This record gives sequence, structure tokens and C-alpha cells, in this order.
Amino acid sequence: MRVGVPKEIKNNEYRVGLTPASVAELTAAGHEVIVETKAGLGIDFDDKAYTDVGARIVGTAAEVFAQSDMIVKVKEPQQSEIAMLEPRHLLFTYLHLAADKPQAEGLIKSGATCIAYETVTSSNRSLPLLKPMSEVAGRMSIQVGAHYLEKEQGGRGVLLGGVPGVAPAKVAILGGGVSGLNAAQMAVGQRADVTIYDISNDRLAELDTYFGSQIKTAYASKAAIANAVANAELVIGAVLVPGAAAPKLVTRDMLKTMKRGSVIVDIAIDQGGCFETSRPTTHEDPVFEIDGVIHYCVANMPGAVARTSAFALNNATLPFVLRLANQGADAAMKADPHLANGLNVSGGKIRHQAVAEALELPY
Ligand code: NAD
Repeated sequence: MRVGVPKEIKNNEYRVGLTPASVAELTAAGHEVIVETKAGLGIDFDDKAYTDVGARIVGTAAEVFAQSDMIVKVKEPQQSEIAMLEPRHLLFTYLHLAADKPQAEGLIKSGATCIAYETVTSSNRSLPLLKPMSEVAGRMSIQVGAHYLEKEQGGRGVLLGGVPGVAPAKVAILGGGVSGLNAAQMAVGQRADVTIYDISNDRLAELDTYFGSQIKTAYASKAAIANAVANAELVIGAVLVPGAAAPKLVTRDMLKTMKRGSVIVDIAIDQGGCFETSRPTTHEDPVFEIDGVIHYCVANMPGAVARTSAFALNNATLPFVLRLANQGADAAMKADPHLANGLNVSGGKIRHQAVAEALELPY
């Protein structure tokens, strides 16, 4: 198959659909890979890194689209990219169509087969192509939290791990799923005083077994959360109710009880956030302050560590890319119902029930 990798054009997107290591796997399997010039520069791979593993470099995205059967990207296609999609194309990327009707209508009109990373499933009911980004965001949340706790950043002037003779900071993690667990790993590594709150008792039990005495767990009742935010220096919002807006676990009134200079990192901001006072921010202007509490609410945290994120994403997507290239979309999806769950659009129709319902479009 001819596999194309255009340069990402969304604002501040430095990741790339295929790293050279992924390209090498495809060319070794006999596929042709066409890469737009400078596609990998954002993560420090020049064109030579791609030609060394057998890719062919072309000058424009238009050439990539014209010469490829499958397009592998990171972000949802922008209008200029949608305009280049044809019925013969297979598009494999994040789409997040449920909240983006213009994109959905463009993809329907293109006639292309569009498989979305975020709806591919796995046998343990997780979303394997979203997981690496939650891992990145979870781990990053502690490093940005520690940064904004510094006095010069407007923070309380507290070191997460304390020092001998001075108590460590209290870190409250709301939601103990993928990002919550990864946040806890980093916070434990920094020797902070960590408590994870969740409404799943099974999950709390798993976390308790996994971390042992390194953390505390607590059922996420309103009272427990109120108590947590009043005492913590750093609160991480990491909840997810699949398919729904994040529950507002921390109200404005609770925020008022927090210590001046404490920090919240609302990872769940991409689903609306779990603090009543959260609003999405960007890497250019990541924080704002309300009631003396610093809010970090960047909706695409992994973008800041594009190189790590691109490798992590490729690790997760490559097995699927190889199967799609080796078998073709129809056979690959027939053989793997979890990959088939990724199908969002094909033949001019929405093919994913939840996406169709969210968009109020025929399915
Ligand atoms: P996950 O499904 O692995 O974990 C979510 C956890 O929240 C689960 O353990 C669940 O039991 C718990 N939960 C649900 N409702 C709760 C409640 N009321 N109180 C306490 N806990 C509750 O999800 P995840 O992969 O960790 O993702 C978390 C959020 O982070 C999602 O919204 C995801 O989209 C987002 N995310 C954001 C970024 C970013 O850049 N900001 C990056 C990656 C992921």
C-alpha cells in the first residue's frame, strides 16, 4: 500500500503521524511511504531521517494525498486537507467528530474511509490509542504543578517532596484512571503526600494494591473532595465519564477554601473540566488565577512534549497501521472488531453510532 504522511498544519502541532522507526517497519513490509518535506522537523527528524528508512519525500501535502492510499496523521484533518480526500483514501488519525459537525460533513462528502484513533477499543474495554496521551498528561501534570507551586510563578513556594524536617506537599488526585495513576507515579517519585480519589471501589482497590503504602486512597464523596481541596497544595483533575462532560467535582465555594498559591491542574479540561472555575487555556498562556488559586487548564498538554508524545502515539498506532497496510481496511476491520470500532465515516456516511447520535446525523 502507498502510505502518506503530511506535515501537521494545526496551530502548535509538532507531532507527526509516523516516526522514521514506524516508516522503517512499513517499508520493510514492502509498503511505499510518502512523507511531506519537513513533516518530522517539529520532533527533530529531518527529511534524511525518513529517506534513510526508505521513505520518499515530496514537497507538498497535495502530492502526499495524490500519491497515497492511506493517510496517517495526528490531528483531525483541517479544511484544506479534507478538500484533498477522495473516496479511495483511508484516513487514520484522531478525529473527535462528536463535537465537530463541519469536519464530519466534510468527511462524509469526501467519501473517504476514516478511522478515528479515539474510538478504537481493546479487549479490556480501554481506548488503546487515547491511553498514551493520558499517560503523558498524567505525568506532565505533576511537573507543571510543581513548577507553578514555585513562588516566582505565583505559587505557594512549596517543594513537592519537602526536605528532611519539613513535610512534603499534599497532592490530591481526583480520578485514578490512566492519567491519575501516571500522575500518582510521578508525585510518589517526588516524595509528595499523595491521595487518589475515585468513585470506583474496584479501581481504588487496584491502586491500593499497586502502590501499597506509598499513597492513600479515598472514595470521592463530596465531603472527601471538599476536605481534600481545602488541605492540598496541588489538586489534579483526572476524572472521565466516557462520552459525557466531566462532572464538576470542585465548586467555586470549595475553591475559596483552598490555600493561597495552591495549584490545580485540570487534565479533564478537554471534557469541560472537573473544577467549576476551569476554562481551557493554551501553552502560550497556560494559567490563570481565581481566589488565589493557580489554574492550569491546557487542553492539549501532550503537545508540549511533542517528541515523547509522538513516540508514544506511534508505539500504540503502529500495529494498527501495519495491519491496515498489509490487509487493507475492509479485511483488517473484519479481522479485528476493536479496530472496526474505530470506523467513523465511510462511503459518505457516519458509521459510528455514538458519533452519529452526538451529531444528530443518520447512521
Ligand atoms: P480514565 O477513564 O482512565 O480514568 C478516569 C477515572 O475517573 C476512572 O477511574 C473513573 O472511575 C474516575 N471517575 C469518574 N467519575 C468520577 C467522579 N465523579 N469522581 C472521582 N472519580 C471519577 O480516563 P483518563 O484516560 O485518565 O482521562 C482523564 C481525562 O483526561 C479525560 O477527560 C481525557 O480526555 C483527559 N486528557 C486530557 C489531556 C490534556 O491534554 N488535557 C490529555 C489526555 C487525556
